[in-house]
Amino acid sequence: MSIKNSINQILETIRETEQKCGRAENSVQLMAVSKFHSGEKIKSVIAEGITLFGENRVQEAIQKFPPLIQEFPHIELHQIGLLQRNKVKHIIPFLTCVQSVDRLELIMELEKCADKIQKPLSILLEMHTGEDSKSGFSDYESVKKALHFLQECKFVVPKGFMTMAPFTNDENLIRKSFRLLASYKERLQNDFKDFDLSELSMGMSNDYKIAIQEGSTLVRIGTAIFGDHN
Ligand SMILES: *Cc1c(COP(=O)(O)O)cnc(C)c1O
Repeated sequence: MSIKNSINQILETIRETEQKCGRAENSVQLMAVSKFHSGEKIKSVIAEGITLFGENRVQEAIQKFPPLIQEFPHIELHQIGLLQRNKVKHIIPFLTCVQSVDRLELIMELEKCADKIQKPLSILLEMHTGEDSKSGFSDYESVKKALHFLQECKFVVPKGFMTMAPFTNDENLIRKSFRLLASYKERLQNDFKDFDLSELSMGMSNDYKIAIQEGSTLVRIGTAIFGDHN
């Protein structure tokens, strides 16, 4: 299927799912995850009106995105994969959000680098909600500590949460993982009323319908848009 047809089909599925579970139209944003895919392919996604992109390797993102952002200043790039502290200063000028914030030390480095270039930066707190993934905060106390630290930050602003469901065909396990993220959000929003923590980044090519049913506000889709990279 062409990129154009894939995107149209996904947008239609998103709209249908929003409607079926009584959610407002356009309450779910589509991110194109462009890792492994060329600048040329990314341009054909931009041509379909998609403005939000996700990459998970700094090296790759730094090669592809600066020229794209120059040509299409309205697009946004989010970091969605493991981010090492020593890479932060290289990638931060090109990002509007880091979704994969999984430890306090990373927040400290993000604030330091954002301060240096006087640039506001959104983050999502990545939560560990399933057996397979190793990344993410895995307990309530450690993420609370991170949010306490964020209250003192001038440039880094938390907007919500992100997770990856386990890679399984067991729909119940996937749903359980998304529900856990939604319940973290409810609880932490209640504890930190001065932040707007409403963003829930959950759902990928294989599970985004379930994620929308469980309250996702942002789905991260790679394979279903670009096809398999090999
Ligand atoms: C690759 C990736 C995605 C997209 O996965 P697909 O199954 O290709 O849609 C989403 N989120 C993260 C964090 C990823 O690394």
